[in-house]
Amino acid sequence: MRPVPITLGNFRDELDEQPLERGWYYFQSNWVKSFREVMPGFFEAVVEEVNPQAVSFSRDEQDIFADIFCTCGEAVPCKHMAAVLFYLEAETNRGDVKNWDELEEKYKRKPFEFQKKNKAG
Ligand SMILES: [Zn+2]
Repeated sequence: MRPVPITLGNFRDELDEQPLERGWYYFQSNWVKSFREVMPGFFEAVVEEVNPQAVSFSRDEQDIFADIFCTCGEAVPCKHMAAVLFYLEAETNRGDVKNWDELEEKYKRKPFEFQKKNKAG
């Protein structure tokens, strides 16, 4: 476990430089797909890089991201989680979504297209 809880407000400072750089590239490439809430407080997204990876995590009411898992098998928060964090940061900074509650509502209504290709092993 990391000593400092990850939030949307601090992940740019708390994540290591390499996953941040790769995650930024993946996000900029528009490779973060299928973000959705699988059950209350638990989320998944797919990062469609060369080998698509599925990231899952929880978020509590203190804005803390935990239970981070990624099918890439690297130490988390990995570059895929970083990409998802950049994605969520951009979404919540956009005019049409101003806070996390609105973001959740937006993605709950989105058609479900996630397919679990890489089952956790
Ligand atoms: Zn990963």
